[in-house]
Amino acid sequence: MSSSVITRFAPSPTGFLHIGGGRTALFNWAFARKTKGKMLLRIEDTDRERSTPEAVAAILDGLTWLGLDWDGEAESQFSRASRHREVAEILLARGLAYRCYCTPQELQQMRERAEAEKRPVRYDGTWRDRDPASAPAGVRPAIRFKAPQDGETVIDDHVMGRVVFQNKELDDLIILRSDGNPTYNLSVVVDDHDMGVTHIIRGVDHLTNAARQTQIYRAMSWTVPDMAHIPLIHGPDGAKLSKRHGALGVEAYRAMGYLPEAMRNYLARLGWSHGDDEIFSTRQMIDWFGLDGIGKSPSRFDFVKLENLNGHYMRHTDDETLLQAFLAFLPHVAGGPEMLARIDDAMRAKLKRAMPGLKERAKTLVDLMKSAQYLFAQRPLALDDKARQIMADGGVAALQGLLPVLTGADWTAQGLETAVKAYAEASGAKLGKLAQPLRAVLTGTNTSPGIFDVLDVLGREESLKRIEDGLKLS
Ligand code: GLU
Repeated sequence: MSSSVITRFAPSPTGFLHIGGGRTALFNWAFARKTKGKMLLRIEDTDRERSTPEAVAAILDGLTWLGLDWDGEAESQFSRASRHREVAEILLARGLAYRCYCTPQELQQMRERAEAEKRPVRYDGTWRDRDPASAPAGVRPAIRFKAPQDGETVIDDHVMGRVVFQNKELDDLIILRSDGNPTYNLSVVVDDHDMGVTHIIRGVDHLTNAARQTQIYRAMSWTVPDMAHIPLIHGPDGAKLSKRHGALGVEAYRAMGYLPEAMRNYLARLGWSHGDDEIFSTRQMIDWFGLDGIGKSPSRFDFVKLENLNGHYMRHTDDETLLQAFLAFLPHVAGGPEMLARIDDAMRAKLKRAMPGLKERAKTLVDLMKSAQYLFAQRPLALDDKARQIMADGGVAALQGLLPVLTGADWTAQGLETAVKAYAEASGAKLGKLAQPLRAVLTGTNTSPGIFDVLDVLGREESLKRIEDGLKLS
């Protein structure tokens, strides 16, 4: 029996969880859950300037919001530096690494020469075979890996297929800097090995690193994990997703009012597919997930598609669950905390009753927040320009006629609809000509959920008062 799967997500804390990182985490998570293995979390916090506790917290928060959990405690890469140094020393002792005494000036000259001759910039092996006895005094050496100079390093990647690197293209990389700090490629190999990682699933931008890392595994006689390098995410214009495409951090999607389950579904489809399935539950994703379903070409981030998918999830989420999601969302959006502060039990009940009407037209929780505004508005309502226009264009007269009808109606969405429709028929007025002014005075705007729902949720007293206020305005 093969040993069980261990994946890992290894973000560098850069201040937020990048949307591409969110997808990488999702794939690692789905693969681990599918195989009943584990997903570990390793924070690659070796850049001490950027790796603040806040940056780490932002990553954990982003993952948690996406609904992704990990096994065991998050591991700090920085805290393992002495183990990384130990492995560098082992390689040194075995003659598989060497001390390099090149000064920054010499390295700079090497770079300039290569650039002048239009060669790729590579370390020229100055200290590879040089007698350490000739080391200059007072220079602290870096340790370089003695990379194989001939032959090939092959990655049999689960996504990219067989990728062949000519060893002569890969130079002797520094594994331990002269200040004693391990470098990224060494740390990743040591950590993945020590953590028992069986599958490395990460962005294709790490493919060259994969070759270098493979060489280090071999030098240490360690088993090279399976690898799956997933294509990048592009923006709608086909260029690599960047700041100018808008939101990059997962938390920005939370603030834009997307539901985590819709995000999971959307991110899964960015690069992975299962037949023609576009909409699937997280359970289905786990059941169907496999590395063979990941495509080789970059996927495009399509905001319209995400929005429509989110709208689908909103409409299909039951009212109570959606209300919970809405309440959890409010602290993260402008104006949300103020709204939240006004939600007492009575308001909560109103929101719940309004939910079927609200969710019908909302694609995001931001839309939902906007259309729920009428519940919070206080009398006398301020009418926006469009609402005023409706009132000026015959709205006042329409409401004057309608008011007695409403006053006498059975106050349920159904009862109100019956009464208003009967009145429309009897008076020859078009339903829209009655509904629009009602909407204007009840919500202060020209768009809202179905008007009979609005009347019902606001209740008889509040509705009639808002109508009277509106009539007084004219
Ligand atoms: N820390 C790296 C990054 O955030 C990922 C390293 C890896 O997955 O091996 O890009």
